[in-house]
Amino acid sequence: MLFKFRVFVTKPPLDYHEVYKITITLQIMNAKIDNLTEDLSLITLNPPIEGFENFISAWLFQGEITFLVDVGPASTADGLLAVLAETGVEHLEYILLTHIHLDHAGAIGQISAAFPETPIVCHSAGIPHLIEPTSLWEGTRKVLGPTADGYGPIQPVAGERFLDAQEFDSKSIEPIITPGHASHHVSYRTPKYLFAGETGGVYYAVSPQRFYLRPATPPRFFFDAAVESIDKLIAANPEKLCFGHYGMVEDGVNKLKTTRQQLFNWKAIIADEIKRTDDDRLMAACLDRLFQEDALVANLDHLPEAARAREAYFLKNSVKGFIGYLREV
Ligand SMILES: [Zn+2]
Repeated sequence: MLFKFRVFVTKPPLDYHEVYKITITLQIMNAKIDNLTEDLSLITLNPPIEGFENFISAWLFQGEITFLVDVGPASTADGLLAVLAETGVEHLEYILLTHIHLDHAGAIGQISAAFPETPIVCHSAGIPHLIEPTSLWEGTRKVLGPTADGYGPIQPVAGERFLDAQEFDSKSIEPIITPGHASHHVSYRTPKYLFAGETGGVYYAVSPQRFYLRPATPPRFFFDAAVESIDKLIAANPEKLCFGHYGMVEDGVNKLKTTRQQLFNWKAIIADEIKRTDDDRLMAACLDRLFQEDALVANLDHLPEAARAREAYFLKNSVKGFIGYLREV
């Protein structure tokens, strides 16, 4: 078993009153766990697909209760279980799923089997696809091809394991129904954290000042629903915002406002290109404009090369979502 253990001690600049921040990173196989705060850890799940390192994640909360948000793909279930075991997690109150795409929910069969008492919270529209996942798996293979094989096939889960997110009621976790990236997407709010899944877009910090941001808007995309969902998250006024892809930010409301503005900018740019560009050049023309006019997309140039190839695919898919939406309205 591949086993790495690192401890980083970071001295906060100037403020000597603040205690030293300690980040512990533990890596086992294809999973890595970083404790970002005293009660929240980011679990990075690296499936065997080039360019997918530091992209897919689950969140582990260990406070008055212990829960997981998302479980990643089936191919990294062994790593996820190993880091949970190594961290001493023997019991989970809940497994919360933001949506059922295989990079978020693909490991649910293995993880739910390892925690047989734990209820799984999911949008009611997603639950039947996890009980009988054949069409979810086949559909994913059709759309993603070899990437789906890298995620691995999802295993079925018994229906009685699920709780409907729309009816879920817990003292410390509030589900917020956020259609947009997927029609069955749910975000989860706790007093300190907001787990936004892909509602806030796909975020990647390049440096403390610079970040890449892309709308997560694959077809079929519904603009108004997506904006309404972001507005719900802004109204929730999160302190710490946890992205599905990738990481946590301290200025959650700012980042959500930036995502919201980006959606409007993309809509204007892509609508303009639809008016003036032939169909066969449309995708290339949209991407050119976005790279010129959206500095956050242009930050793609600062990502590692393999991640750029991954994002080239997903960027096109996000643009496709906008084109489909704009042609329908
Ligand atoms: Zn997704």
